[in-house]
Amino acid sequence: MSFIHVTHTREVEDDVLTALEMWLWHTFGSEIRRMAPLADPAYAFEAKRRQYSSSMILQELLEDCPAEAVKLLAVTEKDLFIPMLSFVYGLAQLNGKVAVISLARLRQEFYGFAENRPLLLARAVKEAVHELGHTFGLVHCLNKSCAMSLSTNIRQVDAKGDKFCADCTYLLQQNLELMRRPIMNPISREKQR
Ligand SMILES: [Zn+2]
Ligand SMILES: [Zn+2]
Repeated sequence: MSFIHVTHTREVEDDVLTALEMWLWHTFGSEIRRMAPLADPAYAFEAKRRQYSSSMILQELLEDCPAEAVKLLAVTEKDLFIPMLSFVYGLAQLNGKVAVISLARLRQEFYGFAENRPLLLARAVKEAVHELGHTFGLVHCLNKSCAMSLSTNIRQVDAKGDKFCADCTYLLQQNLELMRRPIMNPISREKQR
């Protein structure tokens, strides 16, 4: 049995993780297992930018990824970047095992507004589904309401939905099917004869 694993840095609040886990279970139909919190990712901090390298965090996640984890999603409040962009909401290995999302810029407080919990949870769910979608082989979708549509600002996050469009759902189902198909190995085939 394989599970989608969820981990987080210590400051992430429980209600956010619970909301994410419920929606991921609903979306991917896989059981969710929560892992112990991550150590502070000081190794990924870039002082000049006052941000954390999302690719360095992915690298570390790969090393910590349990064998039974089909995917591993990390959730953090740290503001993330990749070298060519001023920030990212998250990063994932395409067709790989690991993904990370940041709540930092999903919070209304970041933009000078009062805290809005339901909005934070709605945004977090969209970004988690999006990044895990990449790990299941989905690429950016041109359908603006699809969870796989690319968001480079918070208006685009709010404009998209937390579900995949029909095309992305079809691709996801195909990829899940491939993953579930047992690998025929010559020894077990021999035994069947
Ligand atoms: Zn993306
Ligand atoms: Zn789509």
